[in-house]
Amino acid sequence: MAGSGHANDVAVRMFGAMLDASPDALLALTGGGTVTLANAAASRLFGYSPEELSGLPVGALLGAGFQQELAQILGRSGAGSPNHPPLLEAQAIRRDGTAFHAEVAGSPVPADTGAAGGHPDGPLLLVSVRDTTHRHATNADLREAMSLLTATLESTADGILVMSREGRVAGYNDNFLTMWGIPPELLQGDSEEPIMRIIVGQLADPVAFMGRLNELDDNPEEESHDVVDFRDGRTFERYSRPQRVGQGIVGRVWSFRDVTPRRKAQEQAQQAMLDLAAQTEKLRAMAFQDPLTGLANRAVFNDALAVALAEPRLKSVDVLLLDLDDFKEVNDILGHQAGDDMLVEVARRLRGCVPTAEVVARLGGDEFVVLLTASSDADEIAECIVRCLHVPVTIHGTLLRPSLSLGLASKSQDTLGPSELLRQADIAMYAAKAAGKNRFLRFHPDMMTALVQRTDMEGGLRLAVPRGEISVDFQPIVSHRMGQVVQVEALARWTRAGERVPPSVFIPLAERTGLISEIGIEVMALSMVQLAGWLSEDPARSLAVNVSAVQLQESDFAEKVLSLAEASGVSAYQLVVEVTESVFFDDDCALIRQLGTLRNAGARVALDDFGTGYSSLGRLQDLPVDTVKIDKSFVSMVRTGLERLPILSSMINMAHSLGLTVTAEGVETAAQADYLTALDCDTLQGYLFSLPEPGSRLVQAVRHAEAALTALKQRE
Ligand code: C2E
Ligand code: CA
Ligand code: CA
Repeated sequence: MAGSGHANDVAVRMFGAMLDASPDALLALTGGGTVTLANAAASRLFGYSPEELSGLPVGALLGAGFQQELAQILGRSGAGSPNHPPLLEAQAIRRDGTAFHAEVAGSPVPADTGAAGGHPDGPLLLVSVRDTTHRHATNADLREAMSLLTATLESTADGILVMSREGRVAGYNDNFLTMWGIPPELLQGDSEEPIMRIIVGQLADPVAFMGRLNELDDNPEEESHDVVDFRDGRTFERYSRPQRVGQGIVGRVWSFRDVTPRRKAQEQAQQAMLDLAAQTEKLRAMAFQDPLTGLANRAVFNDALAVALAEPRLKSVDVLLLDLDDFKEVNDILGHQAGDDMLVEVARRLRGCVPTAEVVARLGGDEFVVLLTASSDADEIAECIVRCLHVPVTIHGTLLRPSLSLGLASKSQDTLGPSELLRQADIAMYAAKAAGKNRFLRFHPDMMTALVQRTDMEGGLRLAVPRGEISVDFQPIVSHRMGQVVQVEALARWTRAGERVPPSVFIPLAERTGLISEIGIEVMALSMVQLAGWLSEDPARSLAVNVSAVQLQESDFAEKVLSLAEASGVSAYQLVVEVTESVFFDDDCALIRQLGTLRNAGARVALDDFGTGYSSLGRLQDLPVDTVKIDKSFVSMVRTGLERLPILSSMINMAHSLGLTVTAEGVETAAQADYLTALDCDTLQGYLFSLPEPGSRLVQAVRHAEAALTALKQRE
């Protein structure tokens, strides 16, 4: 320690050594604030040499504010020196001008103290200065860490709550309040009860939640991680861990995270997976299933048939191939939806007729197939199918009677393979159709011959007109009211190699092949020529000719007919064109236009086979027809003549109310004729009056018909 130069005794040196030993900087100041004495620590701290320090104003070492403090300390000295001088915070300045935080304590030196007393500047002040830079830095670090923590807490998406061991709320962030909808005031209170009430009130399973809390209460060391479901559909993830200070556990930190969107996304993903699985299953099923009817498909049937034929132990393998009759008409007339509905119904009935273990498949369109491998009586099942299918069904408000043709083929020693068996069933089915539909036929080798004949028939029909094999028979139609034949119907005949081919065979073939156009015109021409004379005798007489839809599709059909009539001297007014109702449901309006042209020229249109098609009576008023011909199937319902047949009377009444005339076909008995006459049916046609006869026998046919009519009148 540097002395001021006047005290060189031992005590002073010892005092100086003591001062130098102090880790704090020690300065002795005069009342005016001038440094008179400084220890080694002071030199080190401020960066001055002891010589430089001596005489320095304290203001150069301690911030300006310290002057004031100095005065205060000096002032206090008068009031008795305190035992513990107050610690002051001050800014200290080093020699190089850098500042640092310092803790300063000053205590006045009593005037009578010998060591440094008697100073001319007034009382002495001893000041200790301690560098607190380090402490300040720590505080700042702490503050920074705290603010960082708070910022982190507030910026996290999690809601955080810290509970003390005693169950007090020790801390939380804003998110915690928002997530749980807790008003901040509640957390200021002493009791956590209202908070608990809010929390528990929102939970889907409060009991489980509380149970978990109690469990953790008993195991403060434990960490927990689980999921909390809310009544409103939200889901929180709940995480908690003990809060430790040193080794001890002082509480528990809870963090809650709203995972609702994640949970929802997960659920959606899961649902999507399930959907996908279901779809795959559906696709898989579709590979084996007919989507419309749910029956097996062709692939399943083919496999099953191949397997069955390869199995020698199977006693019987039967294939029942079936095809709906006139299904096209349902589609054309009632629409495709009705067609689909009908197929579904057919499939349902079919399934009901066949033992569950057997395969029922839809091959496509209106074609179905049944494979029997474990059923002893295939004929019985085929029979049942035909019968069950024919039960009427209402589809789209229309009563329909589905019918089908079924071909049955069974495995024998000679069966070569699946395709042969299927072909045999196909031939049998074709034969069933040819035999009049709505039936089943078992395959017989003779049918092969019939097949060959059919092919041969087409070739023959192609040559029928040029070879002059087509002729016409005429069947009289009588008017009971007028007591005479008023019309004849021309019916095509084909004589092939001296044999009559029935119209039910060659007409459909002609329609399928388009040959009907040529044949139809031939029939028209022949009948006009042969009847011109008879027609000219009485303008009230008329000639009815059957016309197929195929013919009406020709754009010059009406024209051709009219020019034929003119050429043969037949008035268009004496012409009747007979069409079936299917003509009216074709998408092609050209057909209707042809009929329109004919009607405009004076010809009439008759609706043939009325009642057998799929249309309802209600449609009649929309059709451009003049006459309906009630089909013979209705006429044949009259047996004794005493039965009540509302269908007949309503058909006739309906037609009359629309201004149409009514002809009844297929009248075979007097009872039928009487019945129809009583219902005011306009004209009658049938074997009772005359068979269809060639033109050469027309006079006899007319005479026979009129005689029959007279006989009827005599019965009355
Ligand atoms: P359709 O127009 O209904 O002709 C009436 C059919 O009933 C005729 O059969 C006739 O012989 C038959 N028939 C008449 N009276 C009776 C009876 O009292 N009892 C019974 N059971 N049947 C009777 P057909 O001649 O075999 O003609 C069958 C069908 O062929 C005709 O039915 C008609 O649809 C068609 N067809 C005949 N000729 C022609 C033609 O020139 N052109 C066209 N497109 N079709 C024709
Ligand atoms: Ca007819
Ligand atoms: Ca008819």
